Amino acid sequence: MSERIAVICIGDELLKGAVVNTNLASIGVRLLALGVVPVSSVEVPDKRDDILAALDFSLARAEIVITSGGLGPTADDVTKEYIASRCGLRLEEDGAAALNIMKHWKMRHPSEEIPPRVFNQALVPHGAKILQNDCGTAPGLILKTPDTDEFPGRTIIMLPGPPNELCPMMDASVVPYLKKTLKHFTFTREFHVAGLGENTVEERMLPVIARCHSQLSVAYCATAQFVRLFLTSESPEIMESAIQAVQELFAAELLADDADSLSHEILHLLEDRGETLALAESCTGGLAAKLLTDIPGSSAVFAGGVVTYSDESKTALLGVPAETLRKFGAVSGETARAMVEGLAKAVPSDAAIALTGIAGPGGATIGKPVGLVFAAIRYRGRTEVFELRLRRTREQIRERAVAGAFFRLRDMILNPASEPGA
Ligand code: ATP
Repeated sequence: MSERIAVICIGDELLKGAVVNTNLASIGVRLLALGVVPVSSVEVPDKRDDILAALDFSLARAEIVITSGGLGPTADDVTKEYIASRCGLRLEEDGAAALNIMKHWKMRHPSEEIPPRVFNQALVPHGAKILQNDCGTAPGLILKTPDTDEFPGRTIIMLPGPPNELCPMMDASVVPYLKKTLKHFTFTREFHVAGLGENTVEERMLPVIARCHSQLSVAYCATAQFVRLFLTSESPEIMESAIQAVQELFAAELLADDADSLSHEILHLLEDRGETLALAESCTGGLAAKLLTDIPGSSAVFAGGVVTYSDESKTALLGVPAETLRKFGAVSGETARAMVEGLAKAVPSDAAIALTGIAGPGGATIGKPVGLVFAAIRYRGRTEVFELRLRRTREQIRERAVAGAFFRLRDMILNPASEPGA
């Protein structure tokens, strides 16, 4: 059986809702890549009794416990002190950690004396291995706890709370340590399936799961752009056959392995072909342009875009005829088509997307509910217009409208002669 790992996130601010617990997600995603899903996660305030209770709870469930937070120099940073006392270990100063603290302090406060409390961070439980912190002063720690009848062979990994310190430390130290230490590997694989809902993905996977006789576990997580599909198995053969099945089942919907979003994939596809993309956005207000330009190097593909929110701007900037707007309305296939056609003149490009719709919560009219979006896509001289009926919040409708248009453009790029919906 694989070793079990439990997570404890420490900090008053997590329970007050002042800080979102991103450390759990950062730890979880890295563990998943190693084939381990934590058996539990607990959030506790910076209080002795709560930290000790969480520690006992976690040590009872897992061989390895990872903690985040409470390693700093302030009075509420008490994690290692309580953990050391629970394990019956004394704290002692680590010379290398003290030097690192001095180095960081001098860099940040060249003319100030180091307050003595800052050196508390160099105090570590006897026998703990130091994990270098290149982004801050508090070192991480790996502590093999003294064996007890209750908790034999346990390891506690303590990491600082700031995500910009915890994440690099997970990558540079904890993941390599776990790779060396974990005796039983689970094989994992993550796929991104675009253009299908979570239920459809799950339904298609049922026969694969049945064939694997409980040796394969499958998890799904829907995001705005795709469904994340996780496969986990302890058998390399089962994993291999499940990967092959997924690749066949979702041949048209799987994003490339190196694309972590639809925008990424579109940029790659167009860049490979030496082609450019332009956007005309109404209800999405520039979201599609943001998602593309979030990606470094997108200037090689993204020619530019316009946000035409009002009827007047659709006419002035894209040449949408006032007659089209009057007759069919701003949210219509005809307007979307006119927007993408006008965009060809405003921002010449090989591919173009126009989006117009009702993101809500207001704005619905008879026959035009919130969530109705029209997208027009032009690629290599061919234009397709299609309608999306989306649900949920304004934010989700906008995100899904962009994802729907990106997915259709991806299909047109990959199958230049295909018919809509083919
Ligand atoms: P510091 O040296 O900053 O005191 P520390 O290890 O003592 O480091 P904390 O004091 O617990 O860490 O947290 C420092 C900051 O890191 C918090 O104010 C918060 O902004 C952030 N942080 C802590 N825990 C988490 C978490 N689980 N998820 C996201 N951010 C967190």
